[in-house]
Amino acid sequence: MPVRNSKKKIFGHCDCCDSKTAKITGSVFLEDKGETLYLARWTVGQRKHGIAFLILVPSQNVFISIVYSFEENSFMVVGPNDQDWQPMNAPMRILNREEVIGTRLAEWAFSFIDEIWTNDRHLIKFYHKMTIK
Ligand SMILES: [Zn+2]
Repeated sequence: MPVRNSKKKIFGHCDCCDSKTAKITGSVFLEDKGETLYLARWTVGQRKHGIAFLILVPSQNVFISIVYSFEENSFMVVGPNDQDWQPMNAPMRILNREEVIGTRLAEWAFSFIDEIWTNDRHLIKFYHKMTIK
């Protein structure tokens, strides 16, 4: 399986809509790119906050931050100040947008996002729930 050990936790709540927040962590493997870790977070029952991802770049020990918007139906690379990922177990640097966009890292990260998007069962379940007409 390309996506392994996906675990989901419900924690805290969103101040603006009082909904609970879900976070998943897992690892993802691509034949030509190796394995990395990811985190994803969303607000239970809410589309408006989208889905926030962190993808680890193992060779540099940094994260790439990517956000999915339901409204736009698209993914966007964001910077360290665009999403609040604190507290994290291991404080690690999140790359700035300029360090990712237009580089091979962006392409690299989106390959993993594709794999997570199509294989993480927690994510699939949430997406499905939010997009049922
Ligand atoms: Zn909210």
